[in-house]
Amino acid sequence: MAMSNVGRPTAPHASSSQGFQSLTGGRGLLQDEPLIFELGGWTKTGVDLPPAEHDASDLEGLVRSSPIGLPGLSEPEAMRHYVRLSQKNHAIDLALYPLGSCTMKHNPRLNEKMARLAGFADLHPLQPVATTQGALQLMDRLAHWLKTLTGMPAVALTPKAGAHGELCGLLTIKAAHEAAGQGHRRTVLVPTSAHGTNPATAAFVGYEVREIAQTDDGRVDLADLEAKLGPDIAAIMVTNPNTCGLFERDILEISRLTHAAGAYFYCDGANFNAIVGRVRPGDLGVDAMHINLHKTFSTPHGGGGPGAGPVVLSEALAPFAPAPWLVSGPDGFELVEEAKDEAAQAFGRMCAFQGQMGMFVRAYAYMASHGSDGLRQVAEDAVLNANYIKARLATVMTPTFPDGPCMHEALFDDVWLEGTGVTTLDLAKALIDEGFHPMTMYFPLVVHGAMLIEPTETEPKRELDRFCDAMLALAAAAKAGDAERFKGAPFLAPMRRLDETQAARKPRLTWRPELTTVAPAPLAAE
Ligand SMILES: *Cc1c(COP(=O)(O)O)cnc(C)c1O
Repeated sequence: MAMSNVGRPTAPHASSSQGFQSLTGGRGLLQDEPLIFELGGWTKTGVDLPPAEHDASDLEGLVRSSPIGLPGLSEPEAMRHYVRLSQKNHAIDLALYPLGSCTMKHNPRLNEKMARLAGFADLHPLQPVATTQGALQLMDRLAHWLKTLTGMPAVALTPKAGAHGELCGLLTIKAAHEAAGQGHRRTVLVPTSAHGTNPATAAFVGYEVREIAQTDDGRVDLADLEAKLGPDIAAIMVTNPNTCGLFERDILEISRLTHAAGAYFYCDGANFNAIVGRVRPGDLGVDAMHINLHKTFSTPHGGGGPGAGPVVLSEALAPFAPAPWLVSGPDGFELVEEAKDEAAQAFGRMCAFQGQMGMFVRAYAYMASHGSDGLRQVAEDAVLNANYIKARLATVMTPTFPDGPCMHEALFDDVWLEGTGVTTLDLAKALIDEGFHPMTMYFPLVVHGAMLIEPTETEPKRELDRFCDAMLALAAAAKAGDAERFKGAPFLAPMRRLDETQAARKPRLTWRPELTTVAPAPLAAE
């Protein structure tokens, strides 16, 4: 996209092979690759089609008058293009992907096999319900697991991501307040360390957002919460474990105070991976919580695929859950598609159909293959791995909260980089040269130069050590005054350091073919 317009600056680094430039822009066996549209072939087609039997006059006045503008590549050309692109991407199947908050963990191939079973993969959302009983049963089992693991009585399966789940939760809360004559509650409280989607969702629903302060040890400031709770507060949104990688020690008091003020407790459950099988959010007084199936129950995400963000709901909120409702009738499972019958108080719908079936299958396969004891071990191993990284890196780097263990992610600040001339961003870019995807940078916002590292439970010790060795080697280079290694990094990536401000402010998201320069011969087979 925007990248092709940025150009490829040459490496300024003088030492060793890093200054070497090939003549074609390739690196070793990795070829430089243009956009598929730049490969062109406008006048060609990759397939041989017989001439049309009926000519275009059937289309009356609707005949295309200019080339369609699709690159006419042959199968091997198209194949090579995408394989070359895939080699430029980092992937969890290649190495550790330590992005904190994102929970990038191995996606078992069994998940993929199950999701590709024809009975799931070829379903049509408008098929008669009698022909989709197996799929509905899988959704019912998934719902059962989610309710059991969270200790909550209901779950809305349709939200398609964590942020979409937050929207679902707040719309449910809004409907419940309105039904109780509490529609005047217009404010949502959000801690300063929250993920950006929390305040964004509250604002999108029309709520005013107020921040709750954080204590020096990285938790919700109870006194500040208590001072801000009142008759205008609709809900609090608290992440637990929070985005500093810490368990909210006062969570029971937080929920008691919230309920006493007549507000609902929305929990951002994106970090459920750290506590699944160990803690049931329902026992903590949570009223609504999204679960990122694509974080806790594997399944690819980011560039790898879509997500799903089911929302578990308390007794008080369950009647307002969005349609469709999956219910068990005399003839098997049924879908209540509108706000009527048992779903009379449903606030509406989150999407056109029944949600991300492929994600449901993957998540259920993950649950069923782990079992309840295996899922508990997921949380234990995720926390163990993060603490291993925290302990090894704390020998040089500065953990933001040095006292006590962390949960599933280890948070460092940039105090240890003082005087080196190297920033968090430089360090992250240098990590790319060492073959790792960078950690999450500058988030949470409350920590200066934050580096948030989440290994997940699927990394073996060997890989954790490889990562720590790379970080410690870079730290030593920074301390030894080798700032040049960092300032120009990455030297070895297909793209060098990009102008990220320009990319964010003026992204070029479309590519326009210069069709005037090609012969307007539509779709002639060569
Ligand atoms: C990932 C994440 C979200 C948003 O989830 P998406 O599935 O990306 O929409 C919200 N909160 C936290 C803490 C997260 O880590």
